[in-house]
Amino acid sequence: MFAWLRSWHPALSISARTSWSLAVAFTLVIAATALLAFAQEHTTAIDESLVRLDQRNASIVDELHQRFERIAETQTRAIDLFRAERATLSPAEARREFDALYPIQADGTRRTKDAMFDGGRTELGYIQGMGGFVPAGFDQDTEAVRDLIAATHAVRALGEGSRFEIESLYFFTPSNAMVIFAPDRPDRLEYYRKTAPADFGFQDREFATISTAAANPARKMMCTGLQSLISLKEREVWTTGCMTPVDRDGRHAGTFGTSMPLDQVVPAGHFADTGEESVILVSREGRLIYHPDYTLQHASSTGQYLDITASRKPELAALWALVRKHGKTGYTGKADGLDSYVSLHDVPGAGWYALTLKPQRLIVAEALRPIPRIAAMAVIALFVCILVVTLALRSLVDRPLQQLTQDAQRITRELANEAFIALPPQDKKGNEVTRLVGWFETMAGAIRQSRALLEERVAERTSALNQANEKLRMLSEIDPLTGIANRRKIMTDLDDRLTRMRPDSAMALLVVDVDNFKAINDRYGHVAGDDALRVLAQRMQELLRAGDMLGRMGGEEFVIILDRARPVIADAIAERIRSAIARHSFEVQGNVALSITVSIGVASWHPGDTGRDMYVRADGALYQAKTTGRNCVITSAYAPTFKRSAA
Ligand code: GH3
Ligand code: MG
Ligand code: MG
Repeated sequence: MFAWLRSWHPALSISARTSWSLAVAFTLVIAATALLAFAQEHTTAIDESLVRLDQRNASIVDELHQRFERIAETQTRAIDLFRAERATLSPAEARREFDALYPIQADGTRRTKDAMFDGGRTELGYIQGMGGFVPAGFDQDTEAVRDLIAATHAVRALGEGSRFEIESLYFFTPSNAMVIFAPDRPDRLEYYRKTAPADFGFQDREFATISTAAANPARKMMCTGLQSLISLKEREVWTTGCMTPVDRDGRHAGTFGTSMPLDQVVPAGHFADTGEESVILVSREGRLIYHPDYTLQHASSTGQYLDITASRKPELAALWALVRKHGKTGYTGKADGLDSYVSLHDVPGAGWYALTLKPQRLIVAEALRPIPRIAAMAVIALFVCILVVTLALRSLVDRPLQQLTQDAQRITRELANEAFIALPPQDKKGNEVTRLVGWFETMAGAIRQSRALLEERVAERTSALNQANEKLRMLSEIDPLTGIANRRKIMTDLDDRLTRMRPDSAMALLVVDVDNFKAINDRYGHVAGDDALRVLAQRMQELLRAGDMLGRMGGEEFVIILDRARPVIADAIAERIRSAIARHSFEVQGNVALSITVSIGVASWHPGDTGRDMYVRADGALYQAKTTGRNCVITSAYAPTFKRSAA
């Protein structure tokens, strides 16, 4: 598994290598754990985000719903008041109020008096914040005049009453007459009151078209998409309006309406963009009501984005697709094409959908939030683990290995010194194990050389010892004066030969003694005597056959073993020796020539004889030879005794 690590850096110590391996393994484990944790967190974060999105969207829907309820309620009450007022209002009374409140202008139209907006006494008492426009010819229709005046009463009363809840309340007729209560409008309603042209008409505008019997058969409140206020020409004021039509005698008499400027639909800081979540309002018809990026109050560009049903902006197209797909049922989940999660619900009463979106990257970021903490803990754990392992390995592996290497070095150097071996250079680059292996190889080489040297020395010593042993053996077997076998050797040899004898075998033992040797010593000295003994041994050796053996028993007495010699042959050989010695002239120290004679006792082998038996018999025969007169051969009792005198 760690082959790559070995190849990566061969000089890395065992503990470092193990630590690194552990680090890699731990990192992999931690990375896998972090991935799992992230996957888990991701799912949880999405779930939690969806719950929050849903709650937030529900609160927005709820708030909008309540606002529409209030508007709808105000308009219902306005209609009730309108009907009640109209029922009690006589045509004459209506006409009188109409003339007073809507004085006729030079262009034939009627417009409200300044006091109605600026605040002042009127036929209806103190009025403020109201304006109205009546096209020329409207006053021909008495019933329409009664409608307008009854509506003016209702608008004034409900407008005043709901002033802090709704921005405006107005009434308009299908014949382009209108009255409005909107005291807080910065434009002071001057358009209707003063500047609108005589042919001012608005029946083509959405707030009018949604009020017709055809468009609104239920005659319930309906709201428009975003519209720019008609009253303002110099700048855009994006507004949505909610309209409830009023029928009289089965015919559409007029419509009560309330407008909400965009920045009141979505008050800043309320459910406006929080930086994390954003709110979008879309009408059922596919018109943007509010979008933090596209519906900007006072921006003329706003108009071009309002219809999202055919938008070329992918984001708006995706939004419309989402609304179309899920609008009816509501939806919480991933918003395709918007890189976001969304909660989508219907706003009851408005014909709108509220969407709260949260970008996917924020949800992922939430999921990622615990990762740095996990990673930091993992790094600390990793560090501590590697530290512990490194320290443990150092004391359990590194140090023993170091000790082992030092011992191997010491032993190898000692061996090298003893055996005079030159050590090969050591590779210092490897790790502790390869160094140790290197030293062990060197040590093995040194041991081999040292052993070879030792074997050589042992061989030398063994050879010297063998030589010494051989010398010792020779010394223990050879007579130092004559160089022939000594007494022990010849008697041992005799015993050896006897063990190999078969009944038909033959052998004889001769005991040879120099006659009157004492006299020779006395006369010529011991050194000459020694010389004589040496020459005698040499002479006798020359007379013997191969296989025979000569030994000195001590003094001037010798023994001869005659191999495979039958008694007759033994006697003959003994005689030949005796006579040859007697004839020989012995050159000794000082160029003296001596004559020596010997007496010989012969004993032939008989089955069952020991060496000692044969010697005793031969010695007995020798004794007889001495007593018989010397310089003769006597055969022991086993054989017929005969004497041969020196001829
Ligand atoms: P016989 O004929 O009875 O054997 O008389 P012999 O003189 O030879 O015998 P004896 O036993 O009386 O004397 C042996 C002498 O041999 C005595 C001794 O001085 C001499 N002798 C023994 N060993 C050596 C030796 O190694 N060197 C010399 N020079 N003389 C020796
Ligand atoms: Mg003797
Ligand atoms: Mg003698």
